[in-house]
Amino acid sequence: MSETSSVHSLPMRYADFPTLVDALDYAALGETGMNFYDRRNQLLAVLEYRTLKQRAMSGARRLLSLNLKKGDRVALLAETSAGFVEAFFACQYAGLVAVPLAIPMGVGQRDSYTAKLKGLIASCNPAAIISSEEWTPLIVSAARETSSAHILSDADFNALPEPDIALTAPSPDDIAYLQYTSGSTRFPRGVIITQRAVMANLNAISHDGIKLHAGDRCVSWLPFYHDMGLVGFLLTPVATQLSVDYLRTQDFAMRPMQWLKLIAKNRGTVSVAPPFGYDLCLRRSNAKELADLDISSWRVAGVGAEPIPAELLSQFGEHFRHLNFNSQAFMPCYGLAENTLAVSFSDPASGPRINTVDRNILEYEGKAVAPGKKTRAVSTFVNCGKALPGHRIEIRSETGQPLPERQVGHITISGPSLMNGYFCDDESQQQIQVTGWMDTGDLGYLLDGYLYVTGRKKDLIIIRGRNIWPQDIEYVAEHEPEIRSGDAIAFVTEEHGEAAKVILQIQCRVSSPERREQIVHSLSARIQSEFGIAVDIELLPPHSIPRTSSGKPARAEAKKRWLSASSYPQLPQLAGFAQ
Ligand code: ATP
Ligand code: MG
Repeated sequence: MSETSSVHSLPMRYADFPTLVDALDYAALGETGMNFYDRRNQLLAVLEYRTLKQRAMSGARRLLSLNLKKGDRVALLAETSAGFVEAFFACQYAGLVAVPLAIPMGVGQRDSYTAKLKGLIASCNPAAIISSEEWTPLIVSAARETSSAHILSDADFNALPEPDIALTAPSPDDIAYLQYTSGSTRFPRGVIITQRAVMANLNAISHDGIKLHAGDRCVSWLPFYHDMGLVGFLLTPVATQLSVDYLRTQDFAMRPMQWLKLIAKNRGTVSVAPPFGYDLCLRRSNAKELADLDISSWRVAGVGAEPIPAELLSQFGEHFRHLNFNSQAFMPCYGLAENTLAVSFSDPASGPRINTVDRNILEYEGKAVAPGKKTRAVSTFVNCGKALPGHRIEIRSETGQPLPERQVGHITISGPSLMNGYFCDDESQQQIQVTGWMDTGDLGYLLDGYLYVTGRKKDLIIIRGRNIWPQDIEYVAEHEPEIRSGDAIAFVTEEHGEAAKVILQIQCRVSSPERREQIVHSLSARIQSEFGIAVDIELLPPHSIPRTSSGKPARAEAKKRWLSASSYPQLPQLAGFAQ
């Protein structure tokens, strides 16, 4: 077995197909495809697009043997495996709606995962659920009470009879898949993506955003249940006939250097990750392991999905310069599942561009103004580019009025990649149909037409007329030597009759009581002097900070836990959370 080559004889097409089925039909005429690697970067499986097409068509017939009807949902536990990709495309050929679902990532998460799965199954009401053998017992227990879905392991799916029936090609208005947003836990929200929307986004990403070339090679460890992994690194390569190399997310998390090694090994050119992926590499780099590695082929290092700390990018660039990493490759981008994936990309090969603003003016007046003589503190934001062609970004006020440049407001989007609404939520569907616009729930500003994202509206800490971004407070904490990026989470909580309180929770391994006290003391003082506010700091055991399925800090969940812990302080398991 050898990996697929990066080049092929087909003229490159930039996802200009009516549906995913047409996209795969074309890619199947060439020699490229997908390569799956194990944690040692050994090739585990190869799935050429021509094989994928054959298996997907056969899978479509096998699914239809279950008497599924067009538009029925098929939930797929989205492992990084050829089995998932085949089942996903089987749904496309069968006119069924694929619903990629998260797999449990951590140990000891069985109960919370089953509860989450229950909610997702109730939300999308699938006619069939397919997963590898490993997860079928979990699915059976999650689906038992509420669902009559066929529960199939990959082997069961492969063993279904294949009736000799003609497949009806999907049309552009058919739903291709439902994408659950990553924070979807208690209230799952399944984004409806039609064939038309996904193709519009794939075309804009490949032709105008990343500006892919024939011969590019993609590399990814992003999970297939997250929009960045699914659209960015499963569907984009298929729709542009490029080869792609996959590492499993869990393997990357254990040994992040495998990512860089895989890029070096196959001369990968395009790879994207949230900031924490780059951070993990910085923290776990090992000079000996990396000796002689050359990652100069990496021409697009996309970064997005979370607020992008400018400093992280410069540190990464510096740190990996000796491996010939080119910082100009950084391509900050902004997107969300509700717009299929991408909204904007910064200009290619320009590297990260930063806007520095006066933090006080930003916090009190919501304006992004260049620092002046009176500036006491600054905030920096990374340029996330302009709206993709055919797509629009408007910054709007609370009352929906368009705001001028440099004014922070709601990032509102429209265009051909926009979802049709959330599944089983008529209000959201109607709202989008009538207005053609969607408020993303994110805040930001425009400058020379370029987007700067300041944060999520729901996470904003509003205290005494001032807007503070939780990531700014977390960032201060993460500068203590023992505290790493992602170890801090800040939120505001209101108590009846009392003033709002800002809570900063930090997970850390420090055991010395003196040092713990010192950390709390010095951070309180630093935050008081930088932000002029008092914070309640809590040191928590490792792994206490809740994260979404794609690894983002779940501030609302942290706040919920904090509120319930403070109403039941006597519970022994919660006592450990206290300072
Ligand atoms: P949920 O909607 O369930 O809370 P989610 O919003 O994390 O989950 P996604 O659609 O995967 O699910 O992520 C999109 C969100 O990620 C955006 O709405 C935004 O908040 C954040 N994001 C994406 N790109 C950037 C960026 N460049 N800078 C800051 N935040 C970003
Ligand atoms: Mg969201």
